[in-house]
Amino acid sequence: MGKVLIIGAGGVGSVVTQKCAQVPEVFSEITLASRTLEKCKKVAGLLPRAIRTSIVDADSTEQTAALIREVSPDLVINVALPYQDLSIMDACLETGVNYLDTANYEPPEQAAFSYKWQWAYDEKFRRAGLMALLGSGFDPGVTNVFCAHALKHYFDQINYIDIMDCNAGEHGHAFATNFNPEINIREVTARGKFWEEGVWKETEPLYIHQSFNFPEIGVRQMYLMYHEELESLVEHIPGLKRIRFWMTFSQEYLTHLRVLQNVGMTRIDPVDFHGCKVVPLQFLKELLPDPASLAAGYTGKTNIGCMIEGLKDGKRRKYYVYNVCDHQRAFREVGAQAISYTTGVPAMVGAKMMLTGKWAGKGVFNLEQFDPDPFMEDLARYGLQWTEVFPE
Ligand code: NDP
Repeated sequence: MGKVLIIGAGGVGSVVTQKCAQVPEVFSEITLASRTLEKCKKVAGLLPRAIRTSIVDADSTEQTAALIREVSPDLVINVALPYQDLSIMDACLETGVNYLDTANYEPPEQAAFSYKWQWAYDEKFRRAGLMALLGSGFDPGVTNVFCAHALKHYFDQINYIDIMDCNAGEHGHAFATNFNPEINIREVTARGKFWEEGVWKETEPLYIHQSFNFPEIGVRQMYLMYHEELESLVEHIPGLKRIRFWMTFSQEYLTHLRVLQNVGMTRIDPVDFHGCKVVPLQFLKELLPDPASLAAGYTGKTNIGCMIEGLKDGKRRKYYVYNVCDHQRAFREVGAQAISYTTGVPAMVGAKMMLTGKWAGKGVFNLEQFDPDPFMEDLARYGLQWTEVFPE
């Protein structure tokens, strides 16, 4: 039914490819392309059906457009790094193909992710009669759909949203990140930011924290951070008074991070080392475990969800919707840890929404702009069951 070109054969790319391969009635042909061909071949080797593999440098619009012309897909699924978002979107515009990704653009030399660069493509995609779906991972992605689902079924108006992301897994390393270390550390070391009463408020990094009792996990400290779905939900959820994002970290992780920051290892500007220009964070990435390699020994669970408050029929109401994902269960199914799994499944589901025409439009969209029902149904069907409760 649909031909997809997946770009990026990392932890998330491996899961998306395997999940697409499980749905041949929608994903009839799959090509996986990445910077390193061996990684694509390794993923292809895990599959029960044949796919094509290819090498591409997605920083080059020219190379990417040439590959798109050769493969002639209905949709490009970008699960490379955020740095490649714009060059791949340009290649899609040049070749007339729809686009999906899981993380918003950020310039390599500036740790400042934002939708502003990709939203600026809206007019171009509209004029070309194409659709781009931004941020179809878990957070952003499922968390946006959770909010749209709450608004559609349980609220007349949503006033408060707290997105809470807990990874209570154990990987056995003193320090490791669950997805690309460079992107992860740039995100975690940024200043905290949340939106309240119409204005953005900033804090020192990881300054505000509180404990929360996560279902199936227990009590954990969670820290207020800026996260990309806040930017789009503020635009698309009417009546919002406050939205915040929280993530849990262990003391061990925070201590390592503080030391790395203090000694300059998280810097993103090039420093001179014996006549070579080295970006300390990129060097650190080479030393840290590849997130995909954590999967085999990873135990424990993740819990990511949204606590939402607002009005229904004039009465105040509180609603909590979340998913719990087990690292070992993800590993048994697709050889991945839960962070790659919880990102890869919604990327496949978003792609399925587009290929089956359940979600259609011309321009650049975030997930909360579409009907949440078919997405929520498929999410549970393809491995990410969700639970909803109305706390007191
Ligand atoms: P990895 O680093 O494991 O994988 C990235 C892959 O992209 C690698 O295979 C890499 O190639 C490839 N790549 C990098 N640069 C290029 C390029 N110029 N051309 C072609 N391929 C390239 O990262 P993850 O799989 O952990 O993350 C993938 C994406 O998912 C990231 O954008 C991340 O931010 C996003 N993400 C989103 C989440 C969400 O919930 N929304 C959660 C987690 C991640 P090579 O192997 O050669 O380096």
